[in-house]
Parts: sequence; C-alpha cells; structure tokens
Amino acid sequence: MARPLVIAIDGPAGAGKSTVAKLVAKRLGILRLDTGAMYRAATRAVLTAGIDADDPVAVAAVVGRLRIDFSAQGAVQIDGVAQDETAIRSPENTREVWRVADHPDCRAHLVAQQQAIVRGRDAVIEGRDATTVIAPDAQLKIYLDASPAERARRRVGDWSGSGSAPSVEDVADEIAERDRRDQTRSFGALKRSDEALHLITDGLSTDGVAATIMAHAVQRHPFVLEQAVADQVIVGRSRQPGYVAVADGTAGAWRLGLTNPTPQRMPGSTTTVTRNRGGRQAGTLVQGSAVLVFAGHAAEPGHLMAVPMLPQTWYVIEPGAWHACIQAHGTICAWAETTGIVEDYAPLDSQRQDELAAWLGVLVPR
Ligand code: C5P
Repeated sequence: MARPLVIAIDGPAGAGKSTVAKLVAKRLGILRLDTGAMYRAATRAVLTAGIDADDPVAVAAVVGRLRIDFSAQGAVQIDGVAQDETAIRSPENTREVWRVADHPDCRAHLVAQQQAIVRGRDAVIEGRDATTVIAPDAQLKIYLDASPAERARRRVGDWSGSGSAPSVEDVADEIAERDRRDQTRSFGALKRSDEALHLITDGLSTDGVAATIMAHAVQRHPFVLEQAVADQVIVGRSRQPGYVAVADGTAGAWRLGLTNPTPQRMPGSTTTVTRNRGGRQAGTLVQGSAVLVFAGHAAEPGHLMAVPMLPQTWYVIEPGAWHACIQAHGTICAWAETTGIVEDYAPLDSQRQDELAAWLGVLVPR
C-alpha cells in the first residue's frame, strides 16, 4: 500500500494557508488539519480557566489535560465539544496564543495529538511547524508566503469581528509582532526548510496556488492522480484526424495536436496501470510533453485539470470508452473505442484558465 500523501504547509499569518489548504483538501477529498485552530482552542481554555497565562507550569497543566480534535464538519473540539469559531479567532484570543504556543510542554502535547489525527491518512497539514516537526516526512512541503502589506490587506478584507474593521497599519503591526514571536520561539519556530517549496502568493488567485500545489503533489505521489481526476464532462473528442478540440467556447482555441491512432500503435509493454473514476479525457500535446486534460472535476463541471502522462504508462480511462497511452515521450496515442461520445462544451472562464496555467506551469516547465 502506498504511504499516505501528506502535504505540509507552513507560513506566516495571513499568507493564505487556510484558504489554500481547504481548497486542496477539498479537491483531493482528503483531511485538512488546521493546527493553528488547536493552539487557539487551547489558549481559550487557558483564558477561560482564569489562570495566570504567564505561569508556564499552570498553563501546561491545563493544556496537558485537553483532548483536542475536529468534528466531521471540521470544527475544532475540546473533549468532544465544538469550540466557538468567533471566540477562538477573536483579537483578544489571538493576542494570547503565543503564550501557549511558546511553551515546549504545550507544544509537545499538541504535536502528539496532531500526529495521531493524521496517522495513516492522506492529509493537508497547515501551521508553523508542519514541515519541520509535525510531519518532517511529508512528501510535499510548502512555505506559503506573501508580502507583509498583502497579508495585512487580506486580514482586513476577511474581518468579520464586531465593530469597524481595524486599519491596515494596525493589522500590519499585529502581524509583524506575531511573525516575530512565531519565528523566534525555541521549539517549533516557523522556519523555511530547504526542502520546502517557497510560494509567494501576492497577486495570485487562490485557485492558481491550489492548482500549483496539487501539480507538485501529483509529481511526488502518483496516486493523487486518481483523486484529482475528473468524472464528468468530456471536453474534447477527435473531430478530425490528428486533432482533439478541447472546448473553451471559442473556435480553435484549444485545438491541440493528437494523433488519431489505431490499436496497433499500443506499446508492447506497460509498467503501471492507473484507473480513474470514470472520467473521460482528452489527450493533448503541450510544448512537446504529454499531458492529459481532464474535464469536469467532481462537483465542478467545466473545471479543467491536467496531469502528466508518464512514458510507458497505460491510462485506462473508462473501460470501453477512451483509452490513452504514451508510446514515447511526447507522443500520445489515444482513441475512442466506442462511439456515443458526444461533444460537450464546458465553460473555461479566466479563473479556470489561470488554474490550468498553474497546473501546466509545474508539469510542463517552460
Ligand atoms: O494559523 P493561525 O494563525 O490560526 O495560528 C495562530 C497562532 O498559533 C500562531 O500565531 C502561532 O503562534 C500558533 N501556532 C503554532 N504552531 C502551529 C500553528 C499555530 O505555534 N503549528
């Protein structure tokens, strides 16, 4: 059995970790572990207990008894009781988190629970020490970053507290202080490890960042292909010898070279079989490398996605419908075995184009 896929994401406050981690976890249908929510819940428990937050022994005694987990809906729970999201994310609670997060005993207790939650499961883990302490063996490590100004702007944009939103300057100061504390604690400090992919998200769409992360995940863990594939609309079919047209609503825009082969062109030997979940696919050649484009992802018809086809790999795509394989690098051989595949136009809006470009940017480096 393949080792579970673990994608570990660290980064400073406001870099976009939560939004991106949620999206990647949803698209792959895997667990998302928000470790910051655990520190926030523990901090709230400390404050509610009315003990001196500066007394490390008393703080560790309270936190050490907490069993922190998540509900099926993703709400953080203490001893099975869901915690109020607004309360754990309030400015007052946020200001105090470092006291709990700094304490080595508190960290050890929470890290042990985090590791237990993800053990044996595919997961996206987000936090400050996900890549270094919680999951140092993660197949994919990401350091998500954004400029301080961008991070402050996002935080103000997300503001959902009572009263008027704080100013960008105040939030920038608060974030800078939190960064300083997060980067300088003696255990579990936020740091960028050499193995982590450094993604700076200024000016990038969330979908684009998620697509980039998924494309890297596919490269490190081939089974992600199975989770990432589409299962809905066919966007292209062989319209004339030599081409598959992939629909984007404009004539000719995605007309990509594809041989219109015959079964005699199959390779003599294969090493791997990947079966997707009923997706129908169009093969394309992009810049000389072979890429499969999937159409319609889970609940999102019209969502395009691309994955690399590995040389000498059979892709069995909906038995009896479309099969594709690569004979040699850059040569796709594909055919429709059955008729009855109808052309269907999927919208490819600018957001999806960005996303596709992000995928291809990783899989087919320019
Ligand atoms: O991720 P979030 O901003 O919700 O985290 C709140 C705080 O919890 C961080 O500023 C940091 O002090 C602490 N934390 C941590 N280690 C983690 C996650 C969060 O110390 N893995």
